[in-house]
Amino acid sequence: MIDYFLEIWTAALNIAKGLQVTWRYLWKPAVTVQYPFEKLAPYAGFRGTLLFDAATCIACALCAKACPSECITLESRKNEQGKRVAKVDWYAVDFGKCNFCRLCEEACPTKPKSVWHSLDYEVAFHGREDMTRCWQEGTPFVGSVYDRKTKKFKKPKSHLQVQSTPARRSA
Ligand code: SF4
Ligand code: SF4
Repeated sequence: MIDYFLEIWTAALNIAKGLQVTWRYLWKPAVTVQYPFEKLAPYAGFRGTLLFDAATCIACALCAKACPSECITLESRKNEQGKRVAKVDWYAVDFGKCNFCRLCEEACPTKPKSVWHSLDYEVAFHGREDMTRCWQEGTPFVGSVYDRKTKKFKKPKSHLQVQSTPARRSA
């Protein structure tokens, strides 16, 4: 009989202790946010989705050489005489292979950087093919997708705007 009441007493004590903690934290500001309605800003050095600016790129391919995963491919533009100029015709990143190491951004010699990690952490793809993204001057981020069978770039069925106002480091 004594054991029975002792157990009830211990249970009540434990509940009271738990409620004490709840009461203490009830009046402190919340540390969580209501995602996706509220979003936390990543810290400044965060390596999010890579973005590219065809307008500043000089087609030097240093980023492609620096990439350990070989996920950057590009083609430089040719002039009327068939000579290569310091502009890209297209530039592609295979996000399926990218490890977000930032070596491409560090290797890029332009100021501001022509390839850089945005602060975007929400990128999602619908399939493997969708993961290779190509940029061309005059087209918004996420232009064409790479067809692995034909080894050609093709127009996507719909554009996926990953980040409309990209953050870019100045140096
Ligand atoms: S972040 Fe790293 S793995 Fe990704 S494209 Fe740049 S160099 Fe390659
Ligand atoms: S993104 Fe930078 S490193 Fe890569 S080709 Fe363009 S200018 Fe060169």
